Amino acid sequence: MKIGLIDIDGHHFPNIPLMKLSAWHKKNGDSVEWYNPMFCGKMDIVYMSKIFSFTDDYPFPVYADKIVKSGSGYAIKIVDSKEIYDKSADVNLPYEIEHIFPDYSLYPDLTKDTAYGFLTRGCPRNCEFCHVGIKEGKCSIKVADLSEFWNGQKNIVLCHPNLMPARIGNIYFNN
Ligand code: SF4
Repeated sequence: MKIGLIDIDGHHFPNIPLMKLSAWHKKNGDSVEWYNPMFCGKMDIVYMSKIFSFTDDYPFPVYADKIVKSGSGYAIKIVDSKEIYDKSADVNLPYEIEHIFPDYSLYPDLTKDTAYGFLTRGCPRNCEFCHVGIKEGKCSIKVADLSEFWNGQKNIVLCHPNLMPARIGNIYFNN
């Protein structure tokens, strides 16, 4: 199958779900590339991942048998100037994809010497403006071992939701 990927946010941070989807499809013999409507032709599946509500959606046509839009950015609506998160519109990755080693080759510069992932999900703090409690639960629970996304890189970025930004040795917390 021909698989296309679109990182809607396009910020300077690797999209972890897309790296896992890429790894899973490559493992199953599919071709995976960044989707470009000018050059890609028809795809079997195009995955569009959007993390942030404030990012504009993809403005160009997508030519594919199946388009999968996912991520918190697609599940947040603005109602009366307030963000409302709709968990039913935010689909989790299947277990076998969520726990696969990410395809860091999608972001060679951003992932040079650096691994990214989650060891825990959820947060008990329930800050008024935050959707993590609804999305991931109000307990912080372990969801992965480090070996799921680290194989010796010098730096590790942990994307846990409930930690203050900190650096411990070569471990960075991104939240
Ligand atoms: S993830 Fe951060 S902002 Fe969200 S509820 Fe927890 S502490 Fe608050």
